[in-house]
Amino acid sequence: MKLREIYNKENSPVISFEFFPPKDDDDGQKTAALLNEISLLKKYNPGLVSVTYGAGGSTRHKSEELTKIINSKFELNVMPHFTCICSSRHDVDTRLETLTNAGIKNILALRGDVPADTTSCFQDFKHANELVSYVRSKSDFSIAVAGYPEGHIESPDLKTDIENLKKKVDAGADVIFTQLFFENEKFYNFVERVRSAGIKIPVAAGIMPIVSLKQAERILSVIKVKIPQKLMSGLERFADCSDDIKKIGIEFASNQYCDLIKNNVDGIHFYTLNKSDAATKILNNNL
Ligand SMILES: Cc1cc2nc3c(=O)[nH]c(=O)nc-3n(C[C@H](O)[C@H](O)[C@H](O)COP(=O)(O)OP(=O)(O)OC[C@H]3O[C@@H](n4cnc5c(N)ncnc54)[C@H](O)[C@@H]3O)c2cc1C
Repeated sequence: MKLREIYNKENSPVISFEFFPPKDDDDGQKTAALLNEISLLKKYNPGLVSVTYGAGGSTRHKSEELTKIINSKFELNVMPHFTCICSSRHDVDTRLETLTNAGIKNILALRGDVPADTTSCFQDFKHANELVSYVRSKSDFSIAVAGYPEGHIESPDLKTDIENLKKKVDAGADVIFTQLFFENEKFYNFVERVRSAGIKIPVAAGIMPIVSLKQAERILSVIKVKIPQKLMSGLERFADCSDDIKKIGIEFASNQYCDLIKNNVDGIHFYTLNKSDAATKILNNNL
């Protein structure tokens, strides 16, 4: 099913899950464990699941492999992430062909993070809006794009970032998936500004239950997202007790989820970090 059908008002809020492919050195065990987690989450009837992609092409093979398995084994709508920062048009054509042959109908079109060494990075695409236009002109994939409720890390301000988001939408995007956030007010403010900018497509809210302090610190060191003081103090107080950290993180995300549902959001996208446990608890709490 294509994004436009999935994000139909009658289905809202659409629940979706993000997974990343196991590393190249996986001997099959990590993939098997991941497939088990996906089968546990399938019970919650996600509108789609997404599969991340290494911007330098490092996980390309694994990403495509996982996308195909989910599509055929689980019969779930799959949306592979599709970066363009180091890609030529030829690379994009080849990847689109692979996905078309696998029966995939949706992609999340991204620029990808700029690598430290850009000299060896061939660039036919500077920004994601160029990828959206290109894919639109070549195929009938349904296309999602990324949005940033707290602004993208390179952007001078949220206003400029939303102007750039509009370029992706005008190029033909169907749905916006947001960066994870911990303060729902920032998301509501973002959606209000997005609507004022004339953007009408659905916006899916990204949430990530914190289950480990180290993991959270690693992720948050590379994106522009603030953890509210109340949550941070709780996490720091129990820094030595992983069970308590997990409990606090899941309870916080559960409240976030409940509030998003009350506010009639179009979709909620779980950054699962390849584990079903936290999302399962949140969904069960809010049944
Ligand atoms: C839901 C989600 C999933 C992600 N998945 C992955 C993944 O699987 N793999 C991965 O490598 N990364 C992933 N990322 C991270 C993403 O690649 C980075 O945030 C990247 O730095 C920006 O990608 P983008 O598509 O938002 O880029 P763009 O939309 O190109 O924006 C990048 C920056 O340039 C500005 N900009 C945009 N268009 C223009 C323009 N036409 N002219 C001037 N400035 C412009 C924007 O304001 C922004 O500051 C994901 C992010 C999100 C939110």
